Amino acid sequence: MSRLASHAARLTVDLSALQDNWRLLNARNAPGAAGAVIKADAYGIGIEVAAPALHKAGCRTFFVAHVSEAVRARAALPEAEIFVLNGLAAGEIDVYGAARLSPVLGSLDEITAWEGYRAANPAAEPAALHVDTGMNRLGIRPDMLRELIASGYLPRADIGLLMSHFVSSEVENDAVTARQIAEFGALAEVIQDAEKAIQVAGKSNHRTRLSLCNSSGHFTLAAGRYNLSRPGYALYGGNPTPGKKNPMRQVIRLEAPVIQVLRVPASETVGYSSNFVAMRDSVIATLSCGYADGYPRNGGSKPSRAGGYAIIAGHECPFAGNVSMDLITLDITHLPEGSVKAGDYALLIGDGLDIDRVGASAGTIGYEILTNLGRRYERIAAGV
Ligand SMILES: *Cc1c(COP(=O)(O)O)cnc(C)c1O
Repeated sequence: MSRLASHAARLTVDLSALQDNWRLLNARNAPGAAGAVIKADAYGIGIEVAAPALHKAGCRTFFVAHVSEAVRARAALPEAEIFVLNGLAAGEIDVYGAARLSPVLGSLDEITAWEGYRAANPAAEPAALHVDTGMNRLGIRPDMLRELIASGYLPRADIGLLMSHFVSSEVENDAVTARQIAEFGALAEVIQDAEKAIQVAGKSNHRTRLSLCNSSGHFTLAAGRYNLSRPGYALYGGNPTPGKKNPMRQVIRLEAPVIQVLRVPASETVGYSSNFVAMRDSVIATLSCGYADGYPRNGGSKPSRAGGYAIIAGHECPFAGNVSMDLITLDITHLPEGSVKAGDYALLIGDGLDIDRVGASAGTIGYEILTNLGRRYERIAAGV
């Protein structure tokens, strides 16, 4: 019996691909710049791995969802700007000054709390303001922003960035997106007019930067580019143009070791709930990776090509039955006799089998595949 060095699946993160992806997005947002969204542990890739690589490529502005992520980001990024997208939680306000973080303010309560905090901590970083142009999720409504500006909020508050978020920028010629771009553009004009008036009055030279675009907008939209974009998914290799060729480089490669190769006679079943029935004498390879590693459980439950598969030595091998907690079974009957043995690695995600495909075969989106990536992998940073 062959012995494996390790049962851990290997997750290789290609940092030069990550950097190339950021450079492409940055070029597409010219003359503005691209930031980087590194929430959810940099979409599962790891903040501590991804953030310094992105900074080295030239990225200077980062977005996270939680303050806890921002504190980790700050440790990895002594110099960068870090925005907290989910807004200001009252119990966490003191962390902002200490870690030089910027909240993305999304309600009047948050705006008021931040004004109070900055009055006492004038060295705190400028905040961003989130205006909701259609998501109905986070942010103040456009009419409230207009009222704030009319009441003199802008010179007082030192807002560094105005942002909004697209509902469906991955869809080309989408009416909702067009409405959002028009709304945001009108608000940008109101802000710029107010800033001009303030400037003429000699009170301030302040310019609020503007940010609207997420990953897909860099490719699907002619308008809507502003000072700063906020790509996430595309940085990590996700396809920002669903249904079309992916313009991004693959960043992650997930490979799992084969721990057994076994013969299953015709009419026997494989795995829980007998979901796979051997229609002929079959050869099954068992991989050390499962849903506890974040690989979706229903990735394999559909018959044939719609379901999950792995690639071994260039051959597509369909899943035989459901994904288990720690194991995946592959039907390798069609491979040359003896060509697969314990210790070989099967590709589960990577070139030729991208996260969008894996998401689709599990009835979800590639975003969820990325952010569920497991903690048991041997993680390898490559391309630095
Ligand atoms: C997550 C998020 C993004 C990044 O979106 P992608 O589709 O991953 O590029 C940008 N802006 C906001 C507000 C977000 O929540």
